Amino acid sequence: MPRRFPVRLLSTLILAILLPFAGCHSQAPLPAPDVFAKQFSGQNAFDHVAKLVAFGPHPSGSPELEQTRQYIETQLRTFGWTVERQKFTDPTPHGPIEFINLIARPADADPNDSRAIVCTHYDTKWFADQRFVGADDGGSGTGALLELARVLAPQKDFARRFELVFFDGEEAIREFHVDLPPYDGLWGSRHYAHALVASKRLPQFKFGVLWDMIGNRDVVIKFPQDSPTKAVRGIFAASDALGTRSHFGYLRGNMVDDHLDLNSAGLPTVDLIDFNFPPWHTPGDTLDKIDAASLAIVGQTTLYHLVQSAAELR
Ligand SMILES: [Zn+2]
Repeated sequence: MPRRFPVRLLSTLILAILLPFAGCHSQAPLPAPDVFAKQFSGQNAFDHVAKLVAFGPHPSGSPELEQTRQYIETQLRTFGWTVERQKFTDPTPHGPIEFINLIARPADADPNDSRAIVCTHYDTKWFADQRFVGADDGGSGTGALLELARVLAPQKDFARRFELVFFDGEEAIREFHVDLPPYDGLWGSRHYAHALVASKRLPQFKFGVLWDMIGNRDVVIKFPQDSPTKAVRGIFAASDALGTRSHFGYLRGNMVDDHLDLNSAGLPTVDLIDFNFPPWHTPGDTLDKIDAASLAIVGQTTLYHLVQSAAELR
């Protein structure tokens, strides 16, 4: 006759077997949105931009962009992210160029876990006749995205809902031509959007957030008219909560930027940009024109919005 386990002993045994697995994918509570948002350091983001600017001009296809890439990859790995190089070669007005998007996910995340993307571009515009290092245009978004990676990483269950994407080739080789071929500009985001559709992963994504030119002193982000209403409302609400509302408003028109092909593909993506930047595409777009306080305003307000969107990302 088999010995019967006392019920209490049996349940203890079951618990002992199950407990080691209980941590897997359990939803640890996130810090309150304002507490979490304040973990984003504008100074850290600024320090990354200083490193990027020190590589000098880094247009698509240049050895300096490869150095920039290695810096981004090293930082991301230090924070616990894996980085995929999405390579492709497209014909450009300067002949074929190999472009490389960097796609980061938490080290233990599955690509099918991603529910949202936060993205920027890390290339700087090529000029034959001027030294252009793109502290704001190329640098600010990249520095901020690296800082976001650091802040998100410890919140593993939340972080695995995000894909952080660093686009190559946002800048036009000559001039933007984005509606019809022959295309120029938005090379990386066009390829990423098409690849996302081809991979059949698009339906798992809820939204995208794009950062471009967010470091301007006294930053005022102006949402293009084609911005997804839900995202704009969310960011306005976040800015109300953090006291940064005066730094966000609407643009009169639209903007040629990396959100266009993501939106066309069906991934509603909001473009956070302060285009009221006189040194734009001039040798004056240098480190002294950007401000850690501005990077903090945009980084923290966006992060607050992401936390408020957590339920949508399960
Ligand atoms: Zn530019």
